[in-house]
Amino acid sequence: MASSVPICDICMTDNITKSASVWCSECEEAICNKCERQHGRMGLSKNHKPIPIKDYQKLPSSVAAIIQKCMRHNLKFDFYCVIHNEPCCVSCVSEEHGICQKLKPLSEVVEGAKSSAAFADLEDRAKDISALIGNLITEKQNNRASFGVQKNKIISEVQNIRAAINDHLIKLEKDLLDKLDNMEKKQIGNIDSFIKKLSEMRTKVENISGDLEKTKRHASNFQAFLGIHEWNKRIEIEEKDWMSLQTDQKMNHCDIYIKCSPTLMKFEKDVTELGKIEVNSSSSKKTLLKKEKQGQIYVPISNTVDNIKLTNIRSFYMADGTSNKTLITEICYC
Ligand SMILES: [Zn+2]
Ligand SMILES: [Zn+2]
Ligand SMILES: [Zn+2]
Ligand SMILES: [Zn+2]
Repeated sequence: MASSVPICDICMTDNITKSASVWCSECEEAICNKCERQHGRMGLSKNHKPIPIKDYQKLPSSVAAIIQKCMRHNLKFDFYCVIHNEPCCVSCVSEEHGICQKLKPLSEVVEGAKSSAAFADLEDRAKDISALIGNLITEKQNNRASFGVQKNKIISEVQNIRAAINDHLIKLEKDLLDKLDNMEKKQIGNIDSFIKKLSEMRTKVENISGDLEKTKRHASNFQAFLGIHEWNKRIEIEEKDWMSLQTDQKMNHCDIYIKCSPTLMKFEKDVTELGKIEVNSSSSKKTLLKKEKQGQIYVPISNTVDNIKLTNIRSFYMADGTSNKTLITEICYC
């Protein structure tokens, strides 16, 4: 690409530094206003079409670097060898392309390059891939944006799990407290009825004691003597009752305790996480280039001698050693 302050190449030959205003691609020179007038009048350059230097500066550097001059011979390219796929100067032609049959005038080959089907195809392919990349970027941006929604969904799922576990535990706690109440009432009932029975027994025994006490104080020996037999029967009944009590379960001391659910005891140890956060990556649809869809996979192959494949069309026998009867003059490439 031309320097940021292009200088007139013509003035430069006289060591004058002057800003260039146009670029002539035929002369490959930056030209100032003054020199441009002369350039437009001179016979050789009369038909050249210089462009404003600003437009020249807009050219991609790789394109601006292409010059129509043979660097080896320092001559202008005038021909194009279709076989070697390269531009040639007069010297190139005589040195390397003397036998190339497909030499064309360069001007004829480049004519209409910008409006050619190949150029339009390049523009089309660049547009196609640019659109596909644009679509893919949009798709990736949408994918990126979807994470927020997915994250919120996961958060509410976790909260739901937590709430469900909480609700379940609250219900289990209530059930357990109800059972505890019932169990306490039942045990109190058992002990109350046992105490009631014991109280009745005690009353009977106290009655006997009371009768004995009164008899001792107020009755005659005769009365006491005959009473002994009667009281003996009564006290034996109470003694039997007492002895039978010894095998009664109601005698046992009772404690209420809790046997916790083993699952619950292991909960903290076993349940180490509420879930796993994972990524599900589904393969996206393959997006084909327009040319792939059309089935025209275009692989440009340069038509150079390196790519020419030889096939055996005809073979013939030649005698060993030199013979003046056989002379190969040319290999034809089609
Ligand atoms: Zn000048
Ligand atoms: Zn010119
Ligand atoms: Zn050359
Ligand atoms: Zn050639």
